[in-house]
Amino acid sequence: MNWRAQVQDKLPEAIAMLQRYCRQPSISAQGVGIAETVAMVREMIENLGGECRVLDDCGGNPVVYASFEPGPNGNPNRTLLFYNHYDVQPPEPVEEWTVPPFGAEIVDGKLYARGAADNKGELVARLNAIALLKENGGLPCRVKFLIEGEEEIGSPALPRYLEKYADLFRADACIWEFGGKNQYEQVELVAGIKGMCYLQFWCYGADVDVHSSMGAVLDNAAWRLVHALATLKSADNRILVEGFYDDVVPPTEALKRIADELPVEDLKSLYGLRRPLITGDANPNYALLFEPTMTICGIESGYTGEGSKTVLPKRAQAKVDCRLVPNQDPDDILRKVRRHLDKHGFTDVEVTQINGERAYRSNLDHPFVQMVVDTAKAAYETEVVLHPNSAGTGPMYPFGEFLGMDLPIVSTGCGWWNSRAHAPDESIRVADFERGILHMVLLMERFGADV
Ligand SMILES: [Zn+2]
Repeated sequence: MNWRAQVQDKLPEAIAMLQRYCRQPSISAQGVGIAETVAMVREMIENLGGECRVLDDCGGNPVVYASFEPGPNGNPNRTLLFYNHYDVQPPEPVEEWTVPPFGAEIVDGKLYARGAADNKGELVARLNAIALLKENGGLPCRVKFLIEGEEEIGSPALPRYLEKYADLFRADACIWEFGGKNQYEQVELVAGIKGMCYLQFWCYGADVDVHSSMGAVLDNAAWRLVHALATLKSADNRILVEGFYDDVVPPTEALKRIADELPVEDLKSLYGLRRPLITGDANPNYALLFEPTMTICGIESGYTGEGSKTVLPKRAQAKVDCRLVPNQDPDDILRKVRRHLDKHGFTDVEVTQINGERAYRSNLDHPFVQMVVDTAKAAYETEVVLHPNSAGTGPMYPFGEFLGMDLPIVSTGCGWWNSRAHAPDESIRVADFERGILHMVLLMERFGADV
């Protein structure tokens, strides 16, 4: 079968489907368009002859289950699970987009839309791969989907659905939601994910804002919070919370070798950095893959408008995320941060956990991992690099917890190095989308044949 030509013929139809899907806003953080999007996802699945169930009895936005039977020559004993999410990040700041965020316009070979790269392009690529296989003799294996609607807000309800419907979602292997090409145009695959402990800090100094002349005698919520935060991390990038690193398992020699071989991205030019990397001369891949982080995502207090306003703010808040590595527990991290604040005299600084997720890393020796690599090479005809885990986070751990900790999970998608997920002008390149469809066709073919 000349799949490359088949995919090419299918492309206009696939793009039209993607444009329609991207034009439907589905913003979980704002509760926009959820029901409409679920209906559209169901329609796309049923149009392809899939069985669809909308699960909504465990709270949160519905989780869509889909199942496609193997064709007459397909292997009913092999089940591939796709994980996707139909929700997207808010488009704000809208004025920074050069095209409408829900217009799905194609400019210079790129399709621009909030959600194009994260994660609507992937779902549509996968569905079109299924369509092609079905039109050409049937699916080589059984295929299931779990498509959730709260990934962009931390997947709070997903573990409950996975626990309750574990039998429904059971599979031999899983393809995760995202991926794409890096700065060197290599396809990046990831076989795991970091965890997350997202913290919110609050500090109250008074019932009301006060004239700043009283700064002569009054403490100040903003200074208080800044001092508390400053105790959490050293200037040379060491997290100072007692016990923070206790559960971190050092990388094996094999993992270190992978880190050494992975390309080092030119982050300075990519982001226009004003400061050197906080990892100094060390290979940044080590920190990206194996070390936990603590990042101040935002601080807010007092007056930050135009000109000057002399005021002593009554309150201050900060949001801090900690990316965790396998074996760290977000609830345990919260307890340790609380203990740390108390010990350093900041009993008045409140801290709560907004969301928490544990890290997950697939067994890299599982044959499925190599199968995804090999088929990516064949589809994209370019170099493919495998990361033991992403530096980012997602709800991978509960898949292992409820479907089996030996479930091999590999992430791949049709993004590129300037996809700008979560930012204005999010895009995918049509050429990558085309190869992404081909990759999924080749993978399902290999997966079904492999017994
Ligand atoms: Zn996202």
